Amino acid sequence: MRPVKRGASPIGNDFNDYADAKVYLVSRIGSGWYGQTQVANYCSYCERPISTNLAVEHIQPKGLTVGLIQPYAHLKGKWENFLLACVNCNSTKGDEDVLLSDLLLPDRDNTFIAFNYDQDGIVSIALTGPSAPLAEKTLSITGLDKAATQSLDDNQRAIALERVGQRMNAWLLARSAKEDVDAEPHNQRIRNGAVRTALAHGFFSIWMKVFENDSDMRGRLISAFRGTQDSGCFDPVTTAAISPAPNPDALPHGSKS
Ligand SMILES: [Zn+2]
Repeated sequence: MRPVKRGASPIGNDFNDYADAKVYLVSRIGSGWYGQTQVANYCSYCERPISTNLAVEHIQPKGLTVGLIQPYAHLKGKWENFLLACVNCNSTKGDEDVLLSDLLLPDRDNTFIAFNYDQDGIVSIALTGPSAPLAEKTLSITGLDKAATQSLDDNQRAIALERVGQRMNAWLLARSAKEDVDAEPHNQRIRNGAVRTALAHGFFSIWMKVFENDSDMRGRLISAFRGTQDSGCFDPVTTAAISPAPNPDALPHGSKS
């Protein structure tokens, strides 16, 4: 899960209509850029490119009701409570209660080191020790631990309908891009092409894993996906993950991984 820095509220305080925050969120943490071209926008949780229906996501759910109380209603317009989410992550998470101390979040923790992305499309916990249950909670609340469902078309070809299948496809794309880069490692056009493919198809973490031994490519990916570099979760020279996260926005319960 790609760590990001949201920065201070662009309007200096809370939003009357949280939908108005979307443009700032997409610009700062939710888009991928090739030069001056905005290639795609992404879900903060599953890393998919989302062309429509990317929603302002409330980390602590605005709609949670406990008895007669809505404990997070006051966070409905709060900039620090916003990420971006696709329909799947948003609806899976729903109004389930979120205690900031109980899970890892991309705006304050190094969520990149928390998870393993495998070529079978499965996301698993990479951490051991006290942070492992927090990583697990993040996966379960967003449904990223869901298994693949087999979907075949009328020619019996496997079709990726959901996040697992899409991760498998991203893995194949990233692997073939890496083969091209490795065949001509000094060819800048091939490297640029690989970045464009990564931006178009999303799944930052998968690309970072496939290029784990190529700091040049990792550096390009880190700077192309907005908000990643500013998170401080990657060494600017080596691209090695920095943990615990520096949590540059000083958000509560940050730096848990
Ligand atoms: Zn998602």
